[in-house]
Amino acid sequence: MSDNEQLKREFTDDERRRLVDYFSLLVEIDQQEKARYAKLKDTPKGYPMNGKGRQCGLCFKSVCDTPGWFDKWGFKCSNCKDAVDKRKIPGSLCGDYSHEKSVPDTVLASKLNISVRTIRKKIKDGEIIGRRIPGGSYMILRKGNPNLLKMAQP
Ligand SMILES: [Zn+2]
Repeated sequence: MSDNEQLKREFTDDERRRLVDYFSLLVEIDQQEKARYAKLKDTPKGYPMNGKGRQCGLCFKSVCDTPGWFDKWGFKCSNCKDAVDKRKIPGSLCGDYSHEKSVPDTVLASKLNISVRTIRKKIKDGEIIGRRIPGGSYMILRKGNPNLLKMAQP
């Protein structure tokens, strides 16, 4: 069978069912996300949200047992919420999944295949400028480190 013949083939019932399930799931996820933002009308500063299975939108660590926080910037862990509340880190960096504005040192280390310790030493020496999330990672802002972050493009 050529590729062309394969494309003309009709979906089997099972494939159709799986497609329907898949699209239903996408719709459900989209509706849940919209509902989360709609809830912010009543609680503009955000609200606690179960973190199970989620990744923090700032430090990118998995949030397992502690509840996280959802606000206009999206979901973040409680430690990062604290850092944003205390104005250690701008809230706008949250949800920067393609690292256009910043990257946590832990993510940068894995992208560059070097140790976090090496990056933290460079921060200490002033070669890299980073902002500490108290009790967590350093956030490396693209603004202060134009050359470094070029290497860490997604
Ligand atoms: Zn976090």
